[in-house]
Amino acid sequence: MRTYDVIIIGGGPAGIFAAGFAAQQGQNVLLIDKNRRCGAKVLITGKGRCNVTHAEEDPRRFVEAFGRNGKAFLTALYAFGVRDLVSFFEERGLPLREERGGRIFPAEGDAASVQKVLEGFLQETGVELLTSCRVEKFTFDNGEISSVLTPKGEFSATAYVVATGGLSYPETGCTGDGYTWAEQSGHHLIPPEPALVPLVLDVDWTAEVNNFNLKNVQVQVVQQGKVLAERFGEAFFTREGIGGPIILDLSAVVRDALKQGVVSLSLDLKPALDSETFDRRLQREFAENANRNFANSLDGLLPKALIPIFLRLSTIDPQKKCHSISREERLQLLGLFKNLELPVSGVGGYKKAIVTSGGVSLKDIDMRSMRSKKIANLYFAGEMIDLDGPTGGFNLQVCWSTGYLAGISAAKRE
Ligand SMILES: Cc1cc2nc3c(=O)[nH]c(=O)nc-3n(C[C@H](O)[C@H](O)[C@H](O)COP(=O)(O)OP(=O)(O)OC[C@H]3O[C@@H](n4cnc5c(N)ncnc54)[C@H](O)[C@@H]3O)c2cc1C
Repeated sequence: MRTYDVIIIGGGPAGIFAAGFAAQQGQNVLLIDKNRRCGAKVLITGKGRCNVTHAEEDPRRFVEAFGRNGKAFLTALYAFGVRDLVSFFEERGLPLREERGGRIFPAEGDAASVQKVLEGFLQETGVELLTSCRVEKFTFDNGEISSVLTPKGEFSATAYVVATGGLSYPETGCTGDGYTWAEQSGHHLIPPEPALVPLVLDVDWTAEVNNFNLKNVQVQVVQQGKVLAERFGEAFFTREGIGGPIILDLSAVVRDALKQGVVSLSLDLKPALDSETFDRRLQREFAENANRNFANSLDGLLPKALIPIFLRLSTIDPQKKCHSISREERLQLLGLFKNLELPVSGVGGYKKAIVTSGGVSLKDIDMRSMRSKKIANLYFAGEMIDLDGPTGGFNLQVCWSTGYLAGISAAKRE
């Protein structure tokens, strides 16, 4: 059996940071991942560009994005914050740049450049890597972990960091092994659920406009006439429904509301104009096209791809001349622009979820060190703990900060 100071299980961003920073403390560190290369998921982040973090530098404001569990994240964020991350990448030759909405990306390069820096960090700090190797289980002695068992042998250490991620995008190696181990060793698990996920709509036309981008739109989540949440920004139609940044951020509200009953979205394609102003616009458009068929009058109002859909959803006969469109018909059309009702039939599954919500309960982790309160030589980091935020780089910052803290703490046995 080979022996180390610290063994890290899971070579995603959290595990890589835990490994590198533990090794920087002079520890003999082994990082085990079941994939051929570490950071498989990093490669697909931010549509291949990797939104590494968010520009909010004030930790107190940063954690507000995480809702009720945000405060517990403060110590880790103070230990390794947004500025630390920017310096980390800059010092390793990958400058970062803030983009729209405070999202921070590599200034040049992409997610592959981020993965390269992470691999370089492991080399620089002398972490020993064991890839294509799945940890199957732990052995215990006197209430502490004594070794990990893998098809490539048994390995032991003084401290262990589990950073095996959640359940989303299982093809990247995330199959929830860490959840099973945590539960088996007495930790409470907040039931994992797909989060930041596209929505499935109960309409039959989205496949016709698959991938069609909706810029600067407003979406409300509505249940029994009550608006539960709303977002302004970008979305796109998918084969089964609707996705994109604002939809992902609304998906948790939709998921929870669906457990209570029927939910629909209200899509406002023209949020910059109130209904009265847009109605005047429609009247002007119809006046200018008075002798044209309704079907040929929408070019100035709608992107081409959406015109056939609107013609179908509208009660106006496509052949009707614009001058004879009634007020009622115009107002129904106005409703399609300002309040297009999209009934939701469900949320997408783990295959399409950006993150997994739930996970190891923060009550069972000392969040000042990331050490388990149940097993003295076990630490947790990354997505597998019960902490998930909106899109915009928040979730990776959880990995960097908790990974750093877990690595340092495991090295010092704090
Ligand atoms: C499509 C997509 C886009 C995203 N874009 C962004 C973005 O732009 N910005 C952002 O902040 N977040 C983004 N995220 C979320 C972010 O990628 C994750 O939150 C993050 O990767 C989680 O890191 P982690 O280290 O906790 O786990 P992971 O990255 O999931 O890594 C866990 C590792 O553990 C390994 N493992 C699991 N079980 C075992 C085992 N039994 N033995 C050995 N190894 C094991 C896996 O192989 C894997 O490599 C995105 C996610 C997806 C799916």
